Amino acid sequence: MSGSSIWHPFTQHGLGDPVPLVTHAQGTSLYTADGRRVIDAISSWWVTTHGHCHPRIVEAIRAQAGALDQLIFAGWTHAPAERVAAGLRAMMPAELTRVFFSDSGSTSVEVALKMALGFWAHTGRPRSRILVLEHSYHGDTIGAMSVGERGVFNAPYEPLLFDVGCIPFPTGDGTNTLEALEAACRDAPAAFIVEPLVLGAGGMMMYPPALLAAMAEICRRHNVLLIADEVMTGWGRTGTLLASEQAGVVPDILCLAKGITGGSMPLAVTMAREDIFMAHWSTDRAKMFFHSSSYTANPIACAAAAANIAIWREEPVLDRLADLGARQQALLDRLAVLPGVAAVRRCGTIAALDLETGDGGYMSSLAPRLLSLFREADVLLRPLGNTIYVMPPYCIDEADLARIADVIEMAVLTVRP
Ligand SMILES: *Cc1c(COP(=O)(O)O)cnc(C)c1O
Repeated sequence: MSGSSIWHPFTQHGLGDPVPLVTHAQGTSLYTADGRRVIDAISSWWVTTHGHCHPRIVEAIRAQAGALDQLIFAGWTHAPAERVAAGLRAMMPAELTRVFFSDSGSTSVEVALKMALGFWAHTGRPRSRILVLEHSYHGDTIGAMSVGERGVFNAPYEPLLFDVGCIPFPTGDGTNTLEALEAACRDAPAAFIVEPLVLGAGGMMMYPPALLAAMAEICRRHNVLLIADEVMTGWGRTGTLLASEQAGVVPDILCLAKGITGGSMPLAVTMAREDIFMAHWSTDRAKMFFHSSSYTANPIACAAAAANIAIWREEPVLDRLADLGARQQALLDRLAVLPGVAAVRRCGTIAALDLETGDGGYMSSLAPRLLSLFREADVLLRPLGNTIYVMPPYCIDEADLARIADVIEMAVLTVRP
């Protein structure tokens, strides 16, 4: 707290908000040094899937830490990485034959962009333009910011961001999006990157599977690579393992991070179709894929991911998702009728509601007031502007979900104009 030299992410230190010190966590609970139990209603920023400190994942990390802690991954391999790759191949779309490891969602996106450009360059048809969907978020590194929504978050860095083709977010039946994509695809762009079904940081904005299928069809017809950023939507958030499977869409390149270790360790993968790998396959060393970071495929993180994959294989995760989805709908039905609630929406386990406000957007003046009300009530919720969303770990029980609904109701009534 005071006296700490830590510079926190997405934190305005000048506002002087308290920074709680957490000592341990279990399931949906965070325990603070001053003796409070806080309900983690946003899965510690969308990463914790099954619950904090899942015993199987904890045990896998313990065992791996004592066996092999870290290994150079350029030209070397280890059993946990092989297990993860084999597990992903068995559960992800069969067309995605290659697994490239990295360590964060942002990096998995950078890798995806480099793979796309490498594909075109190494097959003798250089292309570099990237198409993006309005209001998207793909991470905070320069490349990931370039393909994300421009705004207050990245205004100072704008001169460094590369130019992209921005496709409008669907309104009505989505004709606006499809027509713009069709037109933009005629200029032979390298790739179109999308968050399937839910634009997370953009405000939990949702669009139907049929639209994703139509966008994918346009890309396929124009030979434009489709990159699915399932960093947030993957691992069950939308009710299925991947959001894109609800649209029957298999992307050319798939980004996974956050829930890949159940939310326990930093790890990411970028999966690609065989022809994208083969474009880099050569006896010419100049065509190898020039990307790595020190902790690529860290064995301890891979052991956690392998345990997560085993949980998916052996436990009734999909049943839990269906059950949580129904309970999230009940929560929304209750909150939808409150005065000041403008709209509610849900996709799988993600529930969101917008508050009526004069000043919309991420910098809405409502957000800090809501944040402190939630903090005082010992519920971790972090509104996106005037959008409140609930994205809990899948193990959340009735009592905690009811408590979250109570606290949101209290806060909505309190901030009412
Ligand atoms: C969180 C997020 C990222 C960035 O992941 P990090 O691990 O935070 O770098 C990228 N894309 C989407 C859709 C995300 O939600």
